Amino acid sequence: MKIHEYQARELLTDAGVPVPPSHVVQTPDAAMNAARQIGGRTVVKAQVFAGGRGKAGFVKLCESPEEVRSAAEFMLSNRMVSPQTGAEGIAVKRLLVAAAVDIESEYYVAVVVDRAKRCPVVMVSREGGVEIEVVAKENPGAIEKCWLHPHMGLLGFQTAHLITALGFTDKDQAKAAGKVLRGLVDVFYKYDCGLAEINPLIRTPEGEILAIDAKMNFDDNAVFRHKQLQEMFDPTEENPMELRAKDHNLSYIALDGNIGCLVNGAGLAMSTMDIIKLHGGEPANFLDVGGSVTAEEATEAFRIVLADEKVKGVLVNIFGGIAKCDTIAEALITAAKEVGFNVPVVVRLEGTNVERARELLKEANISQLIPAEDLTDAAAKVCANVA
Ligand code: GDP
Ligand code: MN
Repeated sequence: MKIHEYQARELLTDAGVPVPPSHVVQTPDAAMNAARQIGGRTVVKAQVFAGGRGKAGFVKLCESPEEVRSAAEFMLSNRMVSPQTGAEGIAVKRLLVAAAVDIESEYYVAVVVDRAKRCPVVMVSREGGVEIEVVAKENPGAIEKCWLHPHMGLLGFQTAHLITALGFTDKDQAKAAGKVLRGLVDVFYKYDCGLAEINPLIRTPEGEILAIDAKMNFDDNAVFRHKQLQEMFDPTEENPMELRAKDHNLSYIALDGNIGCLVNGAGLAMSTMDIIKLHGGEPANFLDVGGSVTAEEATEAFRIVLADEKVKGVLVNIFGGIAKCDTIAEALITAAKEVGFNVPVVVRLEGTNVERARELLKEANISQLIPAEDLTDAAAKVCANVA
């Protein structure tokens, strides 16, 4: 789960990280009023789940409330296109109006899960502000890392090491930087983050240390234990199909190709996508119905996969263990009756009650349904039918 910058700023503020004052608004008038309240120079920032806003023109420094008004008008009526959005861009519904700060230096500080080392890692760099991927590629030596014990978190000697790497020699600034690092790590541990990033952390000419942009995401499987995060969830920024699937206990992931995949189990989903690619096809999505799927959930699964306009063919690959093949067959038949198959649907079923399932499908005599012998046959057939 992701949250917006303004929400991440709240969590940082609670953890003792200094952040300039700001307001969240949804109209140009409200933006102008917020700028008046803050006073002085302000910055208007689009609140969307994509970075690269600065370069896209969706972070704008403004000298007056009138300027804030027109910046807000622009951002709320134009889609933002950045390297992280795709060519179609994304609509902006909310803006942050924050007190602008004078920047002397920009730094990068973040905590992420290092999956290879199986623990969190803190990464810091003096080359903040720019995308960290670029720094990592062109100047990897400019990033300093500290791996954290999963339970003990950030230890004193590590904090000192990171402060030195960031180049804070002034005693007060070093102290302030230490507070930021501890605050960020606290947020990461407390809320089960996958990522907690401040980019940039800045130093003002007066020597103040402030977080002026933050990005966070959280382990979906841990959100249930954080009421505060549940309240921050913004369904309007999520893929509507993924939400619809979630409501029915299904896992749906949207991809870029044209073959819909309906499978049970994550491992089978991975191998299904691999074999589709091996036969020259590209998955449009995969929908994992899970182990103990009901007929209703399975029917909804077909509706979701077939509703995707990119889908030119579907591969149903079910290994009936706990999920019964006949349940899936019944769902297929219901879905065919209800929504009709407007594209070829290749079906490979194996496992519990497969004989009964085959009988049901044969009796139903659904046009566009193509039975497959095995997985290879299924992949070949679906790829041939979308080509
Ligand atoms: P991002 O491009 O989506 O990562 O958005 P950021 O919030 O990080 O802003 C991008 C850049 O805009 C920052 O790296 C700064 O250089 C600049 N910027 C943002 N806020 C301020 C501010 O208050 N004052 C000044 N001088 N620059 C700012
Ligand atoms: Mn940023």
